[in-house]
Amino acid sequence: MRTFLALCLLTATALAQPKAADKPAPPAKTSVKWFGHAAFEIDLPSGKTILIDPWITNPSNPTGKDDVKSVKADLILVTHGHFDHVGDAADIAKRTHAKLVATFDLGNALVGVMGFPKDQFGFDTGGNVGGTIEVLGGEAKITFVPAIHSSAVGPDPTKASQGGSPGGFVIAIKGGPTIYHTGDTDLFGDMALIGSHWKVDLMLACIGDHFTMGPDRAAEAVRLVKAKQVVPMHFATFPVLTGTPDAFGKALKKSAPRAKLTVMEVGKSITL
Ligand SMILES: [Zn+2]
Repeated sequence: MRTFLALCLLTATALAQPKAADKPAPPAKTSVKWFGHAAFEIDLPSGKTILIDPWITNPSNPTGKDDVKSVKADLILVTHGHFDHVGDAADIAKRTHAKLVATFDLGNALVGVMGFPKDQFGFDTGGNVGGTIEVLGGEAKITFVPAIHSSAVGPDPTKASQGGSPGGFVIAIKGGPTIYHTGDTDLFGDMALIGSHWKVDLMLACIGDHFTMGPDRAAEAVRLVKAKQVVPMHFATFPVLTGTPDAFGKALKKSAPRAKLTVMEVGKSITL
């Protein structure tokens, strides 16, 4: 009798166990893809896509001409007006109907002189330094943060228009990571305020030197931001961008030894 009861209990327990197919799916993750230079694609758990500084056809990307025709975008973020950051924004916007996230001045300049579709930039996604906008139905909050650089814009750099203040973006994804794209910048002390206001899970940091901070100053920036993980960018695209991930890694060991260094390959993604 006891054996019979035990068997019944075992059977009932087995029936109560959900089958593998019934188990709830693990929470979707955020992934980040690098196209080389300062161009990144962030894929949100919902399937929406944020592009940053989409110079997809940059010289480091061997598949750029194909990628630019297929890349997805719901939002396009541009940090400042230089060609290596505006990149293919207008073409991608025309195909995808993505909205532009940029400062008021830069957005208007991109519409005025770079052919960005006028009805895809307005008060909902335009902002300025210090402002936070909620985007994609509340899936992410994007804050415009400063950068020390310049920001002229135009198809001919010798006849460029005013592009407003250069900047970076802090992108806080609901239920996901917080990502800081530095834009082009030198190290500046107020990066510490970014580190005290947000827990930055991933910092996308320029390290190439010459036009931006180089490896040593970028490592100091990671220390101020207290980033958990850092991906170097904006190096080796042109011969003058001499900062290397190796030099950055060595400097990080001194300045921010707890930060995880991830050197991405062009065209590859990481999951957060
Ligand atoms: Zn640049």
